[in-house]
Amino acid sequence: MCKVSQNFRDSYYLCQLKLTRMLKKVLKESDIKRLSALLSQSERIVLTCHVRPDGDAIGSTLGFCHVLRAMGKDARVIAPDAAPKSLSFLPGFKDILTYSKYPDYSAKLVAEADLLICCDFNCLKRLDDFQTVISESAAKKVLIDHHTEPEYFCDLTFSFPSMSSTCELVFRILAALGMYIDMNLDTATCLCTGLITDTQNFAVNCSDPEVYEVLMRLLDKGVDKPKIVREALVVKSLESFRLQSYALSEKLELYEDGHAAIVTLDKDELNRFNYQRGDSEGVVNRPLEIKDVICSFFLREDPDCIKVSARSINNFPVNAICKLLFGGGGHVMAAGGEYTVGTIDDCRSLLIEAFQKYKNELKEALDKSFD
Ligand code: 5GP
Ligand code: MN
Repeated sequence: MCKVSQNFRDSYYLCQLKLTRMLKKVLKESDIKRLSALLSQSERIVLTCHVRPDGDAIGSTLGFCHVLRAMGKDARVIAPDAAPKSLSFLPGFKDILTYSKYPDYSAKLVAEADLLICCDFNCLKRLDDFQTVISESAAKKVLIDHHTEPEYFCDLTFSFPSMSSTCELVFRILAALGMYIDMNLDTATCLCTGLITDTQNFAVNCSDPEVYEVLMRLLDKGVDKPKIVREALVVKSLESFRLQSYALSEKLELYEDGHAAIVTLDKDELNRFNYQRGDSEGVVNRPLEIKDVICSFFLREDPDCIKVSARSINNFPVNAICKLLFGGGGHVMAAGGEYTVGTIDDCRSLLIEAFQKYKNELKEALDKSFD
């Protein structure tokens, strides 16, 4: 072997060693062995994620799917409902099967599968109508997730709420399986997308220095990060741009001395801007740009419910509010839920009441800001 390629190989092995050392800190060797055995015993594998999938849900399932296909497995991603168009740049996006559109075919694939890999959700409820198909399947099941309080409905559970994203966890699992060297650009692009969307391009949930180690390894594979940031977080249709601008300029209300924000869009407003799924993505983050706003809630009147999205800063627990009022949940500073027992105005009133009850927590969070 020539010297250059020897050096190249050595640096790869070093990198593998380093990754293994880093990964052992969090992943149990016995779990990795069990996963490895499950993968080698399985030929037909279905990967799934939560309803209204985001970059982390699609990135983690598709990223893992590419690896499994490269191993010669018959692997397929089935999402409970349609993935947003903003993710259509992801390699393999067009092969994602949508359960709500093709329920029978999806159920057939699940029935034939030996292994189900569930990514980026912690309870079966997050699969919406797809949950019975998954829960009743006789296939072995693996959960890979970073939400708190996981339900143990799988044979093997990787639950790491401290991780930035499920994509970070999938990367660590693949590296622990010794597969970093084989990881291709398609996989790296998908995994990097979840890292970027769940951290809002490394603005939140990324205090752990190891997140940047993972990012570095993905960039090493040739990932085009500026393209992912633009496609997944920035670019939108003109109608979406106008809808979001309208929501922020006309429909933003502040409560509790300007520390809590609510933005609402009812069905007439959505229709006026020819709303398509994904058009309001990201709008919930924007009120946090206002000085001293600690939490932001976005309420959208969907056909079946009022969809609630929430964000906060300084550890103000929006997941607790979403759980209490809307049977939802999520992360401390990024959560959501569904309100099904009243109008959008009722939903807003409930939140305003909750803000009063959380006065002290709002003040505590405010005290954590730099002056
Ligand atoms: P988004 O606001 O982007 O829709 O969701 C942010 C986070 O909140 C997601 O990562 C997810 O963990 C959580 N989330 C959103 N909607 C729901 C919901 O209806 N139920 C639960 N349990 N979590 C949700
Ligand atoms: Mn996630």
